[in-house]
Amino acid sequence: MAKGILSIDLDALVANWRALDRLSAGSVETGAVVKADGYGLNAGIVGKALARAGARRFFVALAEEGAALRQALGGSLDEGPQILVFSGHMAGDAALLRDHGLVPMLNSPEQLSRHLQFLPGHAFGVQLDSGMNRLGMEPSDWAPVRAAALAQGPVLIMSHLACSDEPHLGQNRAQLDTFRQMTEGCNVPRSLSATGGILLGPEYHFDVTRPGVGLYGGAPFTRAEPVVRLSLPVIQVRNLTPGETVGYGGSWTARQPTRIATLSGGYADGITRHLSNIGQVFAGDTPCPLAGRVSMDLLTVDVSALPEVPETLDLICPAQGVDRIADLAGTIGYEVLTQLGHRYERRYLGEAGADIASPDAAGQPAPVTTP
Ligand SMILES: *Cc1c(COP(=O)(O)O)cnc(C)c1O
Repeated sequence: MAKGILSIDLDALVANWRALDRLSAGSVETGAVVKADGYGLNAGIVGKALARAGARRFFVALAEEGAALRQALGGSLDEGPQILVFSGHMAGDAALLRDHGLVPMLNSPEQLSRHLQFLPGHAFGVQLDSGMNRLGMEPSDWAPVRAAALAQGPVLIMSHLACSDEPHLGQNRAQLDTFRQMTEGCNVPRSLSATGGILLGPEYHFDVTRPGVGLYGGAPFTRAEPVVRLSLPVIQVRNLTPGETVGYGGSWTARQPTRIATLSGGYADGITRHLSNIGQVFAGDTPCPLAGRVSMDLLTVDVSALPEVPETLDLICPAQGVDRIADLAGTIGYEVLTQLGHRYERRYLGEAGADIASPDAAGQPAPVTTP
């Protein structure tokens, strides 16, 4: 089989959720962000494993994502689990929000009026902008509608930190102060922190936290257990004599007798071309440098250091996590995760997912295996 194997360890995912949960006091509820199909790992499967572990609030970006998640998780608006939509109530979303029991986080006075007009009595939350200037009501939007919104009983008021992965920056404290001022006396559950904010400490936790990337093993939660392994099959191995080049553009030249392995996996699978000639794959702990450009479906690597070439080599593994790859490629772990392609065979490992099987992102039934 030439397909790469993407293994997702649901026990590690659950352990990360519990570890983040333990960082806040007992009365603080830890939610889970599963937007962008659970950061590329399958929102339905990730969501079920976390719901089973005790997560009761899930956050998605779009109403459509919320609808798919409700199908996977079951339940309802009244019974939970609660599914909250960051983009709020967009024109045309009313039926989706109603039929799937989703809670829009209203971002503007316009969204508030739309919601009260099209779905009166349907649960909603409010998203405030405390200084990121991206999404949510600013203080000047909020002041005139605050009393009317509160009279309708929002289920959550939230805001988002722009720099929580840089604890030394004054913007964190400034946003905290603004959020406090905007929500003073509201008597509604409040949420400010994603993964980075949880790590900033208890002042930032309020009533509900919203970790995403830390669940999936990414920075800034550096103590996370690795969740993802990506193993790429070796299709062919060849010997090069000094002076021969590898791949498109002949951008890599053998300086000595070299063994080159060609692996299945390329930029169409989310392995960015920026890794050309700088990335590595691993055989256990032994690194094998990429030699030549990443092509659409293939990678070429120098395996001269290996006494024997195994059937697969790992691009993502404990020796090289998503953040290391992101550093090499000049991006962040979030982008590496969400770009993982749809051609891999996905294997969900661990007790936490022993009986969770649902269609993967490519519409194929996801095989569920325990190690
Ligand atoms: C993506 C997102 C989160 C989760 O952030 P992480 O850094 O992945 O933990 C939380 N809240 C909002 C509004 C988001 O957009």
